[in-house]
Amino acid sequence: MKIVKSKADLKAALQSYRSGQAKIGFIPTMGALHEGHISLIKNAKQNADTTVCSIFVNPTQFNDPKDFEHYPVTIEQDITMLTDASCDILFLPSVTEMYPEGIVSLESYDLGYVETVLDGAARPGHFQGVAQVMSRLLDAVQADNLYMGQKDYQQCMVVKQLLSLREDDTMIHFVPTMREPDGLAMSSRNRRLTEGQRALAGLLYQCLVSVEAQNGTKAFDIVKKECLDLLEHKGFRPDYVTLADADTLEILEDYSPSRNMIALIAAFIGDIRLIDNLPLKK
Ligand code: AMP
Repeated sequence: MKIVKSKADLKAALQSYRSGQAKIGFIPTMGALHEGHISLIKNAKQNADTTVCSIFVNPTQFNDPKDFEHYPVTIEQDITMLTDASCDILFLPSVTEMYPEGIVSLESYDLGYVETVLDGAARPGHFQGVAQVMSRLLDAVQADNLYMGQKDYQQCMVVKQLLSLREDDTMIHFVPTMREPDGLAMSSRNRRLTEGQRALAGLLYQCLVSVEAQNGTKAFDIVKKECLDLLEHKGFRPDYVTLADADTLEILEDYSPSRNMIALIAAFIGDIRLIDNLPLKK
């Protein structure tokens, strides 16, 4: 695997690949890699793409400075995992490389409705930060395919909107969520959980499963209250348990069988905020 740290070196490294048949598949990450990230690489490989993974902990998308400060960094282990997954290129830029103009007074994007709800409401500025870094990364990689995890469903929708704003024909692929045996969605932030917190964290997925299981038998506001009560009882600080239209992210007051529905959840356990979601079967 070739490791490059500057946009110029990335461009040079990609030159030989671009002249060939293979498409460029891009997997942006913030590192502290796990099997969820590797499944994105595998998806790109299955499409016979030349794979470019980036690792960059983007300062502009952290609305909480403590979260940024404590974000896990495991670069040596990440390199081993990417090499084992036969990733072709790792782009490992510095903050100055990505933001030569500094990180204040950056451009803003009209991301519309998808930025205003759920994590957009709970984490002001977060999706602008995502758009700022993604725009720079997309310029640098010029990928044919972009692979993103459904685990961050709203982020997928935001990036889809960004691609449309940019009139960028990079094809976005939403990759299903990889889970631990107890259902907990794999996440870099899981490394920060204490043993006790980790033992409880599977409850988020259980709530999503119960939202799905009770579709058609109970009103959603009752199911929602049961989930919130259970989470609070176990010591979580829930942000939301929500049902939304999976195509638009419009918040649904109740189960709507005619729509594609998705259940979404966010909750703090200690100072760690975990998110997850589950598209409901039709
Ligand atoms: P992150 O490093 O958290 O910014 O994530 C980088 C990419 O990996 C994003 O597209 C995430 O949605 C995706 N990802 C994170 N966790 C998972 C998971 N458990 N399963 C699949 N993809 C994931």
